[in-house]
Amino acid sequence: MLLFSDVAEVFAEIEKRSGRLEMTDVLSALFKRTDSTEIGRLVYMIQGILAPPYEGIDLGLGEKFGIEAIAASSGYTRNQVEADYRKSGDLGDTAQDLAGKKKQTALSTSEMGIAYVFEAMIRIAKSSGQGSQDQKIKILAELLNNSSPLEARYIIRFVTGNMRLGVGDPTILDALSVAKTGDKSLRDPLERAYDVCADMGRVAKMFYERSGDISSFKVEPFRPLMPALAERENSSSAIIERLGRCGVEMKYDGFRLQCHKNGKSIEVYSRKLEKMTAMFPDVVEEIRRLGAESIIFEGEALAYDAKKKKYFPFQETMHRRRKHGISAASEEYPLNLFVFDVLFINGKDMTNEPYKARRELVERTFKGKILKPSQMKIISKAKELDSIFKESLSEGLEGIIAKDLSAPYTAGKRKFAWIKLKKSYGKSVDTIDGVIIGYYLGQGSRAEFEFGGLLVAVFNPERGRLETVARIGTGFSEEEMKELQEMLSGMKTKQPAPSLDFKVVPDYWVEPKYVAEIAFDDITESKMHTCAMRGEKGLALRFPRLVKMRPDKTVKEATTTQEVEDMFKLQREKG
Ligand code: AMP
Repeated sequence: MLLFSDVAEVFAEIEKRSGRLEMTDVLSALFKRTDSTEIGRLVYMIQGILAPPYEGIDLGLGEKFGIEAIAASSGYTRNQVEADYRKSGDLGDTAQDLAGKKKQTALSTSEMGIAYVFEAMIRIAKSSGQGSQDQKIKILAELLNNSSPLEARYIIRFVTGNMRLGVGDPTILDALSVAKTGDKSLRDPLERAYDVCADMGRVAKMFYERSGDISSFKVEPFRPLMPALAERENSSSAIIERLGRCGVEMKYDGFRLQCHKNGKSIEVYSRKLEKMTAMFPDVVEEIRRLGAESIIFEGEALAYDAKKKKYFPFQETMHRRRKHGISAASEEYPLNLFVFDVLFINGKDMTNEPYKARRELVERTFKGKILKPSQMKIISKAKELDSIFKESLSEGLEGIIAKDLSAPYTAGKRKFAWIKLKKSYGKSVDTIDGVIIGYYLGQGSRAEFEFGGLLVAVFNPERGRLETVARIGTGFSEEEMKELQEMLSGMKTKQPAPSLDFKVVPDYWVEPKYVAEIAFDDITESKMHTCAMRGEKGLALRFPRLVKMRPDKTVKEATTTQEVEDMFKLQREKG
């Protein structure tokens, strides 16, 4: 049995390391000691989750719960706990600190296995309804009563959704491979398995049960795949140079849906792989009528006004659904789901088939009122691409996505299988999707909003780090300032995210959770920002301004360092 106290010690060890290689070593040594009944839970714990997102089992207890439970188990008052927390800046540290100087000692403590702790967390997450708040605190306090100070630290961090280990998915994948083979030779099949089911716990468990053979991992209905992502180019000629003859699709600014059907069961998932089935009864009804017995497909949902030939952007589509009720909105602003890919059909995994074959399936399968194929044309000249791009803008769409006819579905990856060309905003080259990692207080007329700007980072998947790229001080409406202040003040942290590399310090750090689309004029070298840093200088956005929030994107889907570097190069080439 893997003891939680051993796991906590390894976590403490990991926190002391910063390099990925070192972390992989420490982690793989722990994985070696773990068996197939425990590895899944252990992996979830490292990820700071209880289950993949589509299961909807969220812990995320507010800090208040943590404070109550620490008080109940340590014998200190709530005020004393809060005071310690104000000093430490991390509720996990406070739990550890106060557990070390407990005023009341538990009657008996017994060693806890990782499975025991994990199942207690599940009970906390699942207790709902009347009296559930007390119930949650009770279970948590019991756990703390039974804990060493170090265990208390990680239990509290886990339940408040703030593990701070700085271990990314790539490190977990490497460590799994090293644990079984001594090297990273199984990293690729492990990664592919993870990409096509978005469930690291399940992948790890199967990997152990099958003694390291994960190559036959299959796509299955109701296990959503990580969405494929698009690269970008800034001109049609660059796209043709790269892809040659390709399929060009309209880029709809809608809500990306991944739909699963198996017999009579149907589920619809968002881009973040959360279940959205209840939100789209009209879509579900049409999926029910599809000829295929089982299918997984993807499309972009948005309302379309056929009379005015106008597409409603995603925010408006969702807003209308919320405001007018789903059925009324369905009539007035009929939804279209523009289907652009089929990943599985009648028991067959399609993800390794070329786009061309998948596209033919799209055209054969979707002929409904709501479900219809996205507009697509195969072209081979930049001029043709340009005219489709212009057509898309004139219809109020975002641009186009060009697709490699021979490419497989690149689940979870940004590869040149898909390349987007988007309209640029005003003078700007393009936009990025940045992660908000801190904010500034307002000055002068903005003081009243307690909000004066954002500090934003991009994601470096190779290093598993966030790197700052812009400080945004302009372009906010009063309403936006109010909304941002409200949203961000609730997730302030005393310390920067452990995965962040930074030089500038905002007034407040926040948990890296929200993604925002940001327009800019150019990219410049800067000593203030850490994006793509070489020596003293990193890259930064010039004249950055907020375009809109991207609630549909996760941190991992933010623009990458590599993309910013590429944009910088493109800009230099253009002179
Ligand atoms: P972006 O969000 O700007 O990185 O662009 C990629 C997104 O465009 C995808 O995640 C989809 O949600 C969306 N999209 C819109 N139309 C299409 C299409 N025809 N094919 C693929 N993705 C599309």
